[in-house]
Amino acid sequence: MNRRKFIKNTALTSAGIAIGSSLANCKNKSTHSTEINALTTGANVKSKLPLVIATWSVKEATAKAMEVLDAGGNALDAVEQGCKIEEANEKGQSVGKGGLPDRDGKVTLDACIMDKHGNCGAVVYLQNITHAVSVARKVMEDTPHVMLAGEGAKQFAISKGFEPEDLLTEASKQAWEKWKVEAKYKPIINIENHDTIGMLAIDKNGDISGACTTSGLAYKMGGRVGDSPIIGSGLFVDNEIGACVATGLGEEVVKTVGSFLVVELMRQGKAPQKACEEAISRIVNKPNSNYKDFQVGYIAVNKKGETGSYSIHQWFSMTKFQNGVNEQIQSDYFLKT
Ligand code: ASP
Repeated sequence: MNRRKFIKNTALTSAGIAIGSSLANCKNKSTHSTEINALTTGANVKSKLPLVIATWSVKEATAKAMEVLDAGGNALDAVEQGCKIEEANEKGQSVGKGGLPDRDGKVTLDACIMDKHGNCGAVVYLQNITHAVSVARKVMEDTPHVMLAGEGAKQFAISKGFEPEDLLTEASKQAWEKWKVEAKYKPIINIENHDTIGMLAIDKNGDISGACTTSGLAYKMGGRVGDSPIIGSGLFVDNEIGACVATGLGEEVVKTVGSFLVVELMRQGKAPQKACEEAISRIVNKPNSNYKDFQVGYIAVNKKGETGSYSIHQWFSMTKFQNGVNEQIQSDYFLKT
């Protein structure tokens, strides 16, 4: 299933955001169960390194990351190079060039990156620069700061040699024009795109890095920033323990500091799968949670190279490249009925 068809029926309200998923049109149910079994029975506990995992179906991106790792490159280079594949892919309408714009027609990107030393860099509300993940890396490596926003982030990128360009492709512009016909501030708006690319890698030395990059929630309010560039929410890496990256409704991930939570649960001894499950349960078990109306998904890896993924709704998936196999694995999920 195309990851871009995963979330539909989004409602933006003045009080907040509610997202409903249309989970129809999905095929391959038998494969789905088999893969879940593989995920939950420990069949994935083959910890040969290096390995790469990423949110959604992004085999080209994981292949690029593995190419870097196989050549002896480090995990940081691998996740950056992997994410760049999706950022440059104009057909992908949730990341980088061709990302769907905010309600005013501006494509604004959020990204972050974190290395084995716990160093990190992030950009928020970045415009006109395709490779937000690489700008985030420059923030980490070339500034005393962790996060740059908006015009400051853009000017920094230009000073580092990034070429400004128009990120709104004809296809995304048309989708926005179509959305505008019905768009109202309060009523339900159907939105189809809602997916960050998050990538985690362990290199041959056993060191871990992670990155994530997104154009965020399609047709969001101007100025909105999600979880993806927020260290601890959208991404967290602890080289002693493991790493986690999130996708889905960023507001809910931020409220539970999701990726940090998953890593801390692994520190307490939970397997990555169980840690992802508990982080999702923190969201769905909140009093008055309207979790049936939005999606959150986590993927995680621990220092041993064990992996896990879990989401609220069905049809979230993880791409995993390990032991020469680059495969899409359907995630187990909470809402079974
Ligand atoms: N988490 C991202 C955000 O809220 C979007 C997504 O993953 O689909 O901006």
